[in-house]
Amino acid sequence: MALRFYLPDYRVATHLGAMITVVGWSELAREDQDLLVAARAASQKAFAPYSHFKVGAAVRCGDGRIVDGANYESASYGLTVCAERVAIFRANMEGEHRNISAVAIYASGKTLKADDIPVSPCGACRQILAEVAARNDCPDMRVMSANARFDRFLIATVSDLLPQAFV
Ligand SMILES: [Zn+2]
Repeated sequence: MALRFYLPDYRVATHLGAMITVVGWSELAREDQDLLVAARAASQKAFAPYSHFKVGAAVRCGDGRIVDGANYESASYGLTVCAERVAIFRANMEGEHRNISAVAIYASGKTLKADDIPVSPCGACRQILAEVAARNDCPDMRVMSANARFDRFLIATVSDLLPQAFV
């Protein structure tokens, strides 16, 4: 079943029974706003000469620190690493891998429908996020993402995005 978003008329999408909410800026908590702003800033560091799809991600660590990442593309396209995984790998190197409580994602570029629709993590990143959540014993680890205009924000949990995960 495809994940479908109906914007702007409908604010809630369902996927296999999960609730994935799309909200506006004023509906976000301050710390969620901060994480999304960090993700947007990180997207400016993306290395995306092939797709021009610049993605930034930011994770909130257990001590409140924010660690960011951006996508890094390769001429051998399959070697490209997504922003979410870069941020998680960086958090691991800083000793915070097991304490991540939330992740935010921002994307802009020529591809997809990123202007209107909040970007959604790819399958590979969902797997990594699910494993991080499982290690944290936190299946409800929050995943937030923004559209390119930065006026619509998707709020979900890892278990919403990857039910029945292989962990
Ligand atoms: Zn990904």
